[in-house]
Amino acid sequence: MSGCLFCKIIAGEIPAEKLYEDEKAIVIRDINPQAPWHFLVIPKKHYSALHEIPEHDAPTLLCGLMNALHQTLNATGLNSNGYRLVVNSGASAGQTVFHLHIHILGGRDMQWPPG
Ligand code: AMP
Ligand code: ZN
Repeated sequence: MSGCLFCKIIAGEIPAEKLYEDEKAIVIRDINPQAPWHFLVIPKKHYSALHEIPEHDAPTLLCGLMNALHQTLNATGLNSNGYRLVVNSGASAGQTVFHLHIHILGGRDMQWPPG
């Protein structure tokens, strides 16, 4: 989608530190980390949020997204410490880039409930 930051990163038009890539998703390091480990799992196909994925696309897209997440957890060693997954959905929930992504945060103690 033209004008979308993450679509530009996926297309290689904007540089990012890529930890993982396959045909369905990429994982990059967040440019403004909120924890010692802060990665973003991003599907290559543009949808603004989870609830925007049409039924016919959901199984393939979500399976690809979860697979990239799973690979990253095991490859980074995050699996042996605590980590938190966050999907901000909508501006009031803190979403600033309207291309679906899962935050992986780890490497520090966290509070509950989140702010
Ligand atoms: P959200 O606020 O949930 O939409 O998350 C968007 C995330 O993208 C934020 O944590 C930003 O720090 C991150 N971000 C913005 N621009 C870039 C970039 N060029 N490379 C990597 N991460 C970015
Ligand atoms: Zn996009």
